[in-house]
Amino acid sequence: MATTPAVSEDLLAKYEPVIGLEVHVQLLTASKIFCSCSTRFGDPPNTNVCPVCLGLPGALPVLNKKAVEFAALAAMALECQINEVSIFARKNYFYPDLPKGYQISQYDKPLAEFGFIEIDLNESRTNGGKKKIGITRLHLEEDAGKSLHEGFTDAARKTAIDLNRTGVPLAEIVSEPDMRSPEEAYEYLTRLKEIILYTGVSDCNMEEGSLRCDANISVRPRGQKEFGTKTEVKNVNSFRFIKQALEYEIERHIGIIESGGRITQETRLYNAHEGKTYGMRSKEQAHDYRYFPEPDLLPLVVDEKWQAAIRATLPELPEARRLRMIKDYGITAGDAHTLTLTRAMADQFESAARTAKNPKRVANLVQSELLGRLKAKGLELERSPISMAGVTASADLVELGAISGKMLKDLYDLCFERNQDFPVVYEAEGRPEQSRDTSALEKLADDLIAANPKQVEQYRAGKKTMIGFFVGQVMRASKGQANPQLVNEVLTKKLEG
Ligand SMILES: [Zn+2]
Repeated sequence: MATTPAVSEDLLAKYEPVIGLEVHVQLLTASKIFCSCSTRFGDPPNTNVCPVCLGLPGALPVLNKKAVEFAALAAMALECQINEVSIFARKNYFYPDLPKGYQISQYDKPLAEFGFIEIDLNESRTNGGKKKIGITRLHLEEDAGKSLHEGFTDAARKTAIDLNRTGVPLAEIVSEPDMRSPEEAYEYLTRLKEIILYTGVSDCNMEEGSLRCDANISVRPRGQKEFGTKTEVKNVNSFRFIKQALEYEIERHIGIIESGGRITQETRLYNAHEGKTYGMRSKEQAHDYRYFPEPDLLPLVVDEKWQAAIRATLPELPEARRLRMIKDYGITAGDAHTLTLTRAMADQFESAARTAKNPKRVANLVQSELLGRLKAKGLELERSPISMAGVTASADLVELGAISGKMLKDLYDLCFERNQDFPVVYEAEGRPEQSRDTSALEKLADDLIAANPKQVEQYRAGKKTMIGFFVGQVMRASKGQANPQLVNEVLTKKLEG
């Protein structure tokens, strides 16, 4: 994440951006929200359709229970209150990818309300700058189909339609206009995605459209209470681009206001190639959806008993997990942040840390030796040649003094070269050991024993803990290069002898 804001400091001293985000998350159910068609991505166009999702006359929707449970679970993870009764509504508009002529959504009685996400504005993650971003609502709705403009015969003259996505369940998560910079918006989205991924209700894959974001942005003179006129940036397909689009919009708004103009309330599209937003045709903004309660569906009732059953499946969430891991493994906030980036990584780290001789060393190795190499190779953690068990095995070898830090680095390099896990490479290399040449150590030990007769006497009188004093001295003299295990052995032999 870039730290330098793209908008000039002078202008930001004068104007305050106000940002709210609407995020659509596709729920990972096997079938659609109101019919039994498959939700599988990438199937041939128009193969996963039926009378219900095609909107044929007389077809009736039947609500998918799993979609409700997934949406409620996401809402709970976002600290929302679940409404025991919520109402489905028809959102009426005409578009070729919407066969019914309306979308079934929720309007004035959504599934859940009043949540929040806590974002951390302090990049060093020292629990300094926490800020709560309110979540207005989370509601259930069905997705529309997809217009295709390329990839078929006659694409230059025609638009094709794929209705496989029609009726796929979505949770729409609407934030309060609580964000005050593109950085905060980026952080909010990052945390939101992290939380949703932890719940497992969506894969949040932006390329496949399972997570989509629209951003509302306005600026106002600092100190003014009323919001300025907002614009909406739609269909941006990465968090980085959303941040850039917001930066562009903030500058554009301020520019217009400074030159005495007025902002037009409109929907705009971001062109990532040019780094600019463009207004869409104005008639697209004349929304009047004529919402009314969906007559084909009963009110949705999620009673206390069902809520409790859903809540029981709520996993430990990233923030709580970070705090617990700091306590359990003696790692830093920065360690915990890196190690909880994905639930898989945190799971792997924890199963490794539970068996490791020193969890802190495992955490260090992941950060100092593993992630850097993965980044250099452009690999995700899931594709790492060294598994978390491999990291633990290597950490234990260093802990025991069997290999040095330098040897570990070399072995890690080999793992990445050969795309093999640490134990495999360690065996293939003939279980290398760090030098056990003790002559230099023995000389150091002799000198120390001669120079500290009082401590030697105490040790020999039975105060065995005095060994720590001598080990410390030798380690210091060797500038930390000596093998602690070996130092211990040599000293014990000399002192006992
Ligand atoms: Zn269907």
